[in-house]
Amino acid sequence: MTHPAQPKASHFINGEYIEDTAGTPIPVIYAATGEQIATVHAATPAIVEQALSTAKAAQKAWARMTGTERGRILRRAADIMRERNHDLSVLETYDTGKPLQETLVADATSGADALEYFGGLAASLTGEHIPLGEDWVYTKREALGLCVGIGAWNYPTQIACWKGAPALACGNAMVFKPSETTPLCALKVAEILIEAGAPAGVFNVVQGMGEVGGALVTDPRVDKVSLTGSVPTGKKVYAAAAEGMKHVTMELGGKSPLIIFDDADIDNAVGGAINGNFYSSGQVCSNGTRVFVQKGIKEKFLARLAERTGNAILGDPMDEATSFGPMVTENQMNIVLGYIQKGKEEGARLICGGKRADMDGYFIEPTVFADVTDDMTIAREEIFGPVMSVLDFDTEEEVVARANDTEFGLSAGVFTKDFTRAHRVIGNLEAGSCFINSYNDAPVEAPFGGVKASGVGRENSKEAIKHFSQVKSVYVRMGDVEAAF
Ligand code: NAD
Repeated sequence: MTHPAQPKASHFINGEYIEDTAGTPIPVIYAATGEQIATVHAATPAIVEQALSTAKAAQKAWARMTGTERGRILRRAADIMRERNHDLSVLETYDTGKPLQETLVADATSGADALEYFGGLAASLTGEHIPLGEDWVYTKREALGLCVGIGAWNYPTQIACWKGAPALACGNAMVFKPSETTPLCALKVAEILIEAGAPAGVFNVVQGMGEVGGALVTDPRVDKVSLTGSVPTGKKVYAAAAEGMKHVTMELGGKSPLIIFDDADIDNAVGGAINGNFYSSGQVCSNGTRVFVQKGIKEKFLARLAERTGNAILGDPMDEATSFGPMVTENQMNIVLGYIQKGKEEGARLICGGKRADMDGYFIEPTVFADVTDDMTIAREEIFGPVMSVLDFDTEEEVVARANDTEFGLSAGVFTKDFTRAHRVIGNLEAGSCFINSYNDAPVEAPFGGVKASGVGRENSKEAIKHFSQVKSVYVRMGDVEAAF
């Protein structure tokens, strides 16, 4: 019998599901059991061509609609997503393995927030009037044209919406390629947009690995590429986009610092560290995986952290009581276990976890290392799994310098009751998305993105509009033209 997660076909182009079984089969594995639940096929060159030419053709008419009309469609799509939240969350859990307890509140709901927010903004994307005596300049905010979105595997619904919603609000069309690891959820986003009244072809989904992503990025008809992925992929995609002088948004990896001063509320700080390391089993780009704890509270912090981490409920992700799911794939599990091994070999002190959980699926116990030093591999490289490194520090000056000593700059957090210090420290940290006495909140109203190797551009908020549109300026002369000859 066909599994309920199996989509009708692999791709969604021009308002309908399309199959081409000549493409390489991509198995979809449910991470909690290791069972194959669906198969899709990578896009062939013919499918890529169909998606790009369809999107290109649909874009102009979409951009000519009023912002109010486009916004109404996006807001209707948000309503449909919310009505279907349960089914979409179950699918997200099949796609990623993340527990339903999380997907019910963080995925389709976050996608719906983006559709609603950018739907609301669509009607107010106006330009300026710049008076110049009798003459004047007016500006118009115009669509870029054909945008490509490429997703990572940790938030397949959210990423499709965080890219699709602002792109469409601005009058662009999009071809979206989900991660080959989680190909299912973006198809539902495309289906819902059509149901909400989006013209066929303005949001299309094609499947495939890096090769398909590469074909999309290098196509001369494409005006913009928005990627969520790792730094090495980001460098390749950025370079390929530069060849064609295309706009880019790069949402890449991180190794973010979370700094806890000794005056912090310990339980809140422990809660922040848990949210910033173990949500989605640690598969979150903005995670605060370098937890710097001031020496005075170190042992108290570690004791409370170990106690609360022991309350994680590993198990069937479809059971709403489960609070901690598996790694997305066997491969990702092995990568993370390799880092845990390195942590042990390089002399970090294991506080809890540290091994694969004794159950089906790709579960790793939530793991905390203490006495981690700046040069250890687990403190330098992005692990993308449930491995928290706790490092000690003495002074504010020292911790800021050490926190910034990384190629990454996605996020940063600080816990302290001293608000002057909190703002001063955040002001000195090299990161795009920061938190004071909190960690990993990502409301659609707030800009999200990194500095340094962690990325270029911002998603969400009004900032995202700037990255999916461009300004045309028009000089208007009222009098005669003076010329030298
Ligand atoms: P990845 O870089 O392996 O792949 C990302 C996407 O790029 C996939 O869809 C992949 O098929 C595609 N791709 C690979 N090579 C390509 C190429 N040459 N041209 C075009 N596309 C190509 O990343 P992943 O393993 O799927 O995701 C994990 C990474 O994503 C982590 O580093 C994580 O930090 C990052 N991430 C960042 C954010 C953010 O918003 N900053 C969010 C989630 C994940």
